[in-house]
Amino acid sequence: MEKITRCDCHLHTDNSFDSETPAERVVQRARELGIEYIAITDHCDILEWSDVNIARSNAQAAELNEKYHDITVLRGIELGEPLQAPEQTAIALGLCEYDFILCSLHNIAGEEDFYFLHPHAQQAQELIRRYFDELLETVKWNEFDSLAHFTYPLRYITDRDGVQVDMECYQPIMKEILATLAANGKALEINTSGLRSPGGFLLPTVEYVRQFRELGGKYITLGSDAHLPEHMAIGMKEGIAAAKEAGFNAATVYLNRQPVEIPFE
Ligand SMILES: [Zn+2]
Ligand SMILES: [Zn+2]
Repeated sequence: MEKITRCDCHLHTDNSFDSETPAERVVQRARELGIEYIAITDHCDILEWSDVNIARSNAQAAELNEKYHDITVLRGIELGEPLQAPEQTAIALGLCEYDFILCSLHNIAGEEDFYFLHPHAQQAQELIRRYFDELLETVKWNEFDSLAHFTYPLRYITDRDGVQVDMECYQPIMKEILATLAANGKALEINTSGLRSPGGFLLPTVEYVRQFRELGGKYITLGSDAHLPEHMAIGMKEGIAAAKEAGFNAATVYLNRQPVEIPFE
């Protein structure tokens, strides 16, 4: 089988509330696909997280990494909304040793996950504005390795619900977010989950990956955000093509919180 990707650094197991896939099944699927590095990044949405699940996820990743010698299984976490409960964030970050902290924002403060929202056009503009405002504060906070699914609200607002959004007005703040990330030496994730739906797109699209590069961004991570084994690595071809088009010649994985570049083949 042709190898799709050497790494996939955004994967969920049954230690996430929205997945039923045992961690070992995730690893087996990755080995079937010839993937060399995976990061298990179970949800740690900071207003609603389980220390038991995070500790279990971390321990399972470490065990599986010991068990299989043809793949590196990294101990990750998808840390959601870290600024909404700073004390909880400190507890979560201190709970385990992690290889990789993937930072995300699924819901802005005081609102539900964008998954549950169905705003009309005007509301959507305001919600997206607040998303970028909170995201800018989050990248300034900087206690993570890679920023997950930049432009996440668009997955639901435009892709799922077909609401048209004027992105032009957000260009300055989007640029500021990417510039901050680049200046801090952090990675931007290319999240391919959008490509599982017809008409879907990468999060973020190639223009923002390119802008990140132009602003001095050094690292990108690749994530299929699979919650099911059969979704693993879907869209990676397109994700890698976008990275190359933007000027990157490697994806990055994180080992003990340190970037390791994995050149594209
Ligand atoms: Zn996420
Ligand atoms: Zn995820």
